[in-house]
Amino acid sequence: MIAEIIAVGSEMLTPHRQDTNSLYLTAGLNDLGVEMAFKTIVGDNLRHLIQAAKIAIERADVIVFSGGLGPTEDDLTREAAAAALGIELHPDPAILTALYKRFAARQMIMPPNNAKQADVLDEAVLLENKNGSAPGQYLDTVVNGHRKIVILLPGPPSELKPLFDDAVKPRLASALPPRYLARRMLRMALIPESQVDARTAPIYKQYPDVETTILAGNAEIQLHFLSAKPTLAEAQARVDELTGKIEHEMDDAIFSSHGESLEEVVLLMLGMRHLTLATAESCTGGLLAQRLTAVPNSSSAFIGGTVVYTAELKTSLAGVAKETIDSKGTVSEEVAHELAEGIRARTGASIGISITGLAGPAGGASGPDAEKPVGRIYIGLADGRQTTVKELNLMGNRERIRYWAAQQALELIRR
Ligand code: ATP
Ligand code: MG
Repeated sequence: MIAEIIAVGSEMLTPHRQDTNSLYLTAGLNDLGVEMAFKTIVGDNLRHLIQAAKIAIERADVIVFSGGLGPTEDDLTREAAAAALGIELHPDPAILTALYKRFAARQMIMPPNNAKQADVLDEAVLLENKNGSAPGQYLDTVVNGHRKIVILLPGPPSELKPLFDDAVKPRLASALPPRYLARRMLRMALIPESQVDARTAPIYKQYPDVETTILAGNAEIQLHFLSAKPTLAEAQARVDELTGKIEHEMDDAIFSSHGESLEEVVLLMLGMRHLTLATAESCTGGLLAQRLTAVPNSSSAFIGGTVVYTAELKTSLAGVAKETIDSKGTVSEEVAHELAEGIRARTGASIGISITGLAGPAGGASGPDAEKPVGRIYIGLADGRQTTVKELNLMGNRERIRYWAAQQALELIRR
């Protein structure tokens, strides 16, 4: 069973409005084991709407329209669905009466256009809309020998959501064979997508019934798995088996297998080992500390840190020797080393971590730093037993370089 949502409304084809209804509908359909296969956004144009509706009816089993059920000229969903299905609309006398009464109650005469809100697809079940005037519609029919469920819902989220939950979900649940979806996500940082795919494809290809998606972005790779089965236990077992094999293959590269962020994992790991952490950041300007402190309860492991942007502060706040800066430059292995040890010593943390580098876009660096390229970063980690420094040469704009530097620092702590 696959679904398509058609979000109707020209405003969602502008840069200003987003289709959020489809996120809600997708979650609800997934609950019923219905997979979302397509989402279409169409403006208030009858020809385009009929085209989109025909395509959806052809390729999906469950088709949900959102919006375009109002009384105005541009509310065309009913007409489009009828035309695409090759069926008629008929006015429903009860709705028509209710509409007339609504207006009469406010001492108004109903404008003729409003009558179209009473138009119903032949054989459709009407879904009462307690929060607005246009009812929803639910049609379970057969098109060219294939069962199709076509659902029309009003656009305002305050109307669509209760209508979907109260009227659509129970109907779909009894109309469809039981099916459950199980999902899992594995997250990895700082490993190329191509490498992840090369190593995991031979495994996930053995599970054609589990949908596997690789997503890259924000300095991490995510592997998403989705299985649909008649019972939840079966769906879960299938996903667990596959992720188990992939976890074995990728091993240490995976930082999270239940959705946690990298900073959460790092804090958890530090907490379990009764370790504390302090940061000394230059080019990331506190981004690492910000990410850590965004996690509730981070104070159990993260004790604090400092932003030492100038050479002077690196010396006065974190104890980097002036001679080191003068001879090696602030962007150097030696400064990262002293910075990590300095912040560790001055805070009493078990681990001191430092980040210094050139985030760009322009160099602006002088003295020993003048030759160093934008993207050159040094991350130092001091744990009392040893101090290691990692040199990075990152690409991209300032924002990307800063984010990746913080990400690398977190990965360094985790491993
Ligand atoms: P109305 O009777 O209000 O005209 P309608 O069913 O015709 O209802 P639309 O005219 O398409 O619905 O949309 C009404 C409002 O609902 C829009 O202005 C927008 O604020 C909201 N809306 C419509 N579609 C969506 C969507 N897909 N996601 C989020 N909001 C939406
Ligand atoms: Mg409308």
